Amino acid sequence: MARYTDANCKLCRREGEKLFLKGSRCLSEKCAFERRGYAPGQHGNNMRRKTSEYGLQLREKQKVRRIYGVLEAQFKNYFEKADRKKGITGENLLQFLECRLDNVVYRLGFAPSRKAARQLVRHRHFTVNGRIVDIPSYSVRPSDLIKVKDKSKSLDLIHSALKDSRGEEIAWLRLNKASLEGELLEVPKRDEIMIPAQEQLIVELYSK
Ligand code: SF4
Repeated sequence: MARYTDANCKLCRREGEKLFLKGSRCLSEKCAFERRGYAPGQHGNNMRRKTSEYGLQLREKQKVRRIYGVLEAQFKNYFEKADRKKGITGENLLQFLECRLDNVVYRLGFAPSRKAARQLVRHRHFTVNGRIVDIPSYSVRPSDLIKVKDKSKSLDLIHSALKDSRGEEIAWLRLNKASLEGELLEVPKRDEIMIPAQEQLIVELYSK
């Protein structure tokens, strides 16, 4: 049997739940978590999960960080910004993450995963308000118009991702599949952010 080496799927297995990091594969029977829903490594199948309060908080932070594909230092920066902002810190944190350009491109359906969206942004396939933006962490604001650059409109990856896109169903976004453009209508509220996170645990972790 082939050796299992997929780094993304290992993250799901480590977190003990599906993080949907690989687009349509995550919904298929090829999903590694469906086949081996236990932690990776020699003793993964027998490993008892950490259940201390700190352990739970740490795992939650790692899970959210991995879902959005953000490095530790950058994640901490988001938390500090969220903490300084008025409102509920956990919700602020998720809003900052959701408004990253790579996430908005993914949510609109121009890419099958956040990782693919990040790659497309880095390769300069998108404009924001008419200007090329190649920074995945760019913070999209309400009324910003995100467009596939003219020269990139024939990219197969974008068209095949759009076929499965549910971007039109997302209330805080507007997607125009024909013109390959989308708009952030408003910053999403917590109940509109569809990720399985208990962000309060992250706030507790960083507040120690
Ligand atoms: Fe996770 Fe997707 Fe891999 Fe399944 S296919 S283990 S959901 S990244």
